[in-house]
Amino acid sequence: MTEQHQLRREVTKKLGRSLHVRHLDSGSCNGCDWELAALLNPVYDVQRLGIDFVASPRHADLLLVTGVMTRNLQEAAVLTYEAMPEPRLVVAVGACAVGGGVFANTYAAAGSVEPILPVDVFIPGCPPRPEAIIHGLLVAVGRMKLRPLPFC
Ligand code: SF4
Repeated sequence: MTEQHQLRREVTKKLGRSLHVRHLDSGSCNGCDWELAALLNPVYDVQRLGIDFVASPRHADLLLVTGVMTRNLQEAAVLTYEAMPEPRLVVAVGACAVGGGVFANTYAAAGSVEPILPVDVFIPGCPPRPEAIIHGLLVAVGRMKLRPLPFC
């Protein structure tokens, strides 16, 4: 079974529906964001695996953060996280989100995502490839507590 099929199975098992992802760019150069965008192209097409991006954190199961945590996004990142329903997951995508990367010591940066938000999975790379992001999502879903399936 491929990793992508495993992800499809885990999403169904844990949620009984799609995994809803909210993307937050906390200060990226856009490199990581392009790799996230590739997840929706016909090559990776993560929607067929039951993964979809949503606009509101209130509809999200998982927060994908790209970029170094800039000081002016810090409060918005916390508010976004607090607006998500439990159980909620946080995934840091790319070297900047994981450890500050090349922007770590600049005046506008507060550093990596971890001290600001509780990160469940770190995906290294500058930027990480879409395959690495899919792998990180699989690991994250595996850490999600089982939810009771809704009545049909
Ligand atoms: S990890 Fe690399 S590609 Fe991603 S935001 Fe940082 S510099 Fe850009």
